[in-house]
Amino acid sequence: MNILLVGSGGREHALAWKIAASPLVKRLVAAPGNPGMAAQCEVRSVAATDVPALVALATEIAADLVVIGPESAVAVGLGDALQTAGIPCFGPVAQAGQLESSKAFTKAFTDRYGLPTSAYAVCESADDAKRALDRFEPPYVIKADGLAAGKGVVIAPERGEAEAAIDDAFGGRFGAAGARVVVEEFLEGEIGSLFALCDGKNSMLFGWAQDHKRAFDGDQGPNTGGMGTYSPAPVFTPELVEQVRTRLVEPAFAGIAADGAPYRGVLFVELMATKTGPKLVEFNVRFGDPECQVLMLRLESDLVPYLVACAEGRLAEMPPPVWRDEAAICVVLAAKGYPDQPAAGGEIRGADADFGPDVAVFHAGTRLDEVGVLRAAGGRVLNVCARAATLREARDKAYAAIAQIDFPDGFCRTDIGWRALG
Ligand code: ATP
Repeated sequence: MNILLVGSGGREHALAWKIAASPLVKRLVAAPGNPGMAAQCEVRSVAATDVPALVALATEIAADLVVIGPESAVAVGLGDALQTAGIPCFGPVAQAGQLESSKAFTKAFTDRYGLPTSAYAVCESADDAKRALDRFEPPYVIKADGLAAGKGVVIAPERGEAEAAIDDAFGGRFGAAGARVVVEEFLEGEIGSLFALCDGKNSMLFGWAQDHKRAFDGDQGPNTGGMGTYSPAPVFTPELVEQVRTRLVEPAFAGIAADGAPYRGVLFVELMATKTGPKLVEFNVRFGDPECQVLMLRLESDLVPYLVACAEGRLAEMPPPVWRDEAAICVVLAAKGYPDQPAAGGEIRGADADFGPDVAVFHAGTRLDEVGVLRAAGGRVLNVCARAATLREARDKAYAAIAQIDFPDGFCRTDIGWRALG
């Protein structure tokens, strides 16, 4: 079969790596892709948000399936346009995409369908938001309503900082994404990422992992899009997984369908494991980045039949996925200055060396310059991933590979997996 994969990050490189390994695939095209993905598939320079051009490309290559990677493509209605064109698509329509693109929408959704989450206030002005702080205890959680690539959330230990974050958001720091702000209760507990597939009707859990959101070691520094992941993560006890399935995943898919836009694709449930059970932190309407990378390393089953089953409403026919009995880790190499002001253009050498069968280096923000030198072209630049019998061995393999990559303008956290490793 022919597949069009939309996106250009480390998540999409990991998907391309796994999809390309499927014997079912005749042709895999990525748009816009990245230099690393060129090793697995054809790369076409069509933007992930250029809906008419993507539909035309899918038609041109006679795509049997389009796989949507990033939320930006969901938000502009790529899923809707493909549905209209009669092209099977793994990825939801824009209406369901609001679960990611508006935190206020999601909070109203959790109220409507009784999903456990933090207490909150949706605020339309800075004054409103500052008044709302009275209703919460510190630390204060301030969130820009819209998409801000993981950077629109501030956890402020003190009121002054919370007020500054509110002024920042309403002052335009996040553009239109900050035109509304959600102030919410701080949840105590351990955070986790769980993934579930849905074909519009039937759903299936599809792995879990733990991310490291803060920029620096020891969970210090600003929030980022994610600095590293590992799977399995001990926080996901069988009991927690079952609670997430019954209290969050199933009611969410039922609610989305009741709202009139049955979900086809993967739902990413970010949750806090609190003393009183899992509480929703947020939904994302796509695989996590960098969670997807560790899931693809651990997934033993062929991914493609699951993607097709979601698009075609045949998930009930699929067995649960088989995972390798191994641990996987992903360490993000970011450009110095990320997330605020990542250094652009830093030279990278050695990323494409052969690190062995259990190490994969996925490209995220990279580009080849005029003379073929690989350079940084984004905040998160490379994802160095490894798998092994134990998390400790996987971590050692990943950091050994990082030591061989020459990226003077880059940095990474050195403590990925600390919760599990002690
Ligand atoms: P953006 O909107 O900028 O893309 P995001 O969608 O990644 O950001 P969230 O996942 O809602 O934002 O929050 C980012 C991080 O902040 C979470 O991973 C979690 O660590 C922390 N966080 C968010 N909400 C809470 C909360 N209510 N209590 C405690 N920690 C929280």
